[in-house]
Amino acid sequence: MSALSTRINNLSESATIKMAKMGRELAAKGVDVISLSFGEPDFHTPKHIKEAAKQAMDQNLTYYTPVAGYPDLRKAVVAKLKNENNLDYDFSQIVVSTGAKQAIANAVLCLVNPGEEVIIPTPYWVSYSEVVKLAEGKSVFINTTVEQNFKITPEQLEAAITPKTKLFMFSSPCNPTGSVYSKDELEGLAKVFAKHPDVYILSDEIYEHINFIDKHESIAQFDYIKDRVVIINGWSKAFAMTGWRIGYTASNKEIAAACDKMQGQITSGTCSITQRAGVAAYEGGLETVLEMRAAFKKRRDIVYKLLSEIEGLNVNLPDGAFYFFPNVTSFFGKSYNGKTIKDADELSIYLLEEAHVATVGGDSFGDATSIRISYAAAEDKLIEAVRRIKEALGKLK
Ligand code: PMP
Ligand code: GLU
Repeated sequence: MSALSTRINNLSESATIKMAKMGRELAAKGVDVISLSFGEPDFHTPKHIKEAAKQAMDQNLTYYTPVAGYPDLRKAVVAKLKNENNLDYDFSQIVVSTGAKQAIANAVLCLVNPGEEVIIPTPYWVSYSEVVKLAEGKSVFINTTVEQNFKITPEQLEAAITPKTKLFMFSSPCNPTGSVYSKDELEGLAKVFAKHPDVYILSDEIYEHINFIDKHESIAQFDYIKDRVVIINGWSKAFAMTGWRIGYTASNKEIAAACDKMQGQITSGTCSITQRAGVAAYEGGLETVLEMRAAFKKRRDIVYKLLSEIEGLNVNLPDGAFYFFPNVTSFFGKSYNGKTIKDADELSIYLLEEAHVATVGGDSFGDATSIRISYAAAEDKLIEAVRRIKEALGKLK
């Protein structure tokens, strides 16, 4: 009998973190592993941001911070939302957290009661369903396919809403598919939400700046639902700041106060030095962000061409983020060396063992037909990785 709570026993381990760990362990044994499992920019944090952190230490900014973040950081977020997204928020509506991950957990734990339903389009980022479990809510999935570019329709949304629905959670640009909802598509969903005034919307916009088609569109732009939207965003992807741990919610004041209270009991404000770096990032302009985006777009085009040439993979051209989510069902039931591939997770393990390329099986993203390939890696590594994937898949008969 486990001494641990049912809460933790029922929680799945983060598959992205697990695969990254397996890749690292294999590499530690001397194997030349190419890791395309972790969603993490391979760039360094820009210099002006690191300088601000050094200064913060020299100024002895090493004390507890206000739980929701330094006022000037929250004001910098307000200015960003106005200037980049044309959205009006007051600084009391911003809660800065230890990564967007905590921002999501705060919002879900503050909104969802046991038994309430949370609608999540599949495939989704692995932590969404797990944090709903922690809140004792019930995830209700809307399935999408590569043919519909992994985007739900207003009709699908309408059909999923019940009197028990409390929250809808999605990301655009999307992890793991790279799909980006257009303004018109978001408006279609917003009109459905307008008919259901008790449903809240968690809009995860952390890949906002890694968008190859157009300017970023937020579902919060539709005034008639804005008060029910919780925007999630952060610095990890745009500024290559994954290790700094900083993200935020922008929401109505009631939810913001609740997130502040929740965070005050669990972690308090995120690292003081990180927060100074966060201000520098927002005040320093988008030059480095645009450079990184251009690099990601180039890599996307290279990888797309190479993946499209692999027989049996069904892959779409992602409009944003840095992932491919190819359908791999044509390999199910095929074997190599006495091992038969039953599902996408097994294929992902096969690719790690046979090709020494770490990816993530789709099951934890709520879609067991596909694997996720992150292309946040150097071009030569990506080219070599896809060559190895092609070779390993070719062995399956
Ligand atoms: N949302 C999505 C869609 C993500 O891919 C991630 C992973 N970085 C996060 C939130 C959490 O980001 P972080 O905690 O690093 O800010
Ligand atoms: N979000 C990234 C990913 O999807 C980082 C890992 C994580 O935070 O789970 O790979």
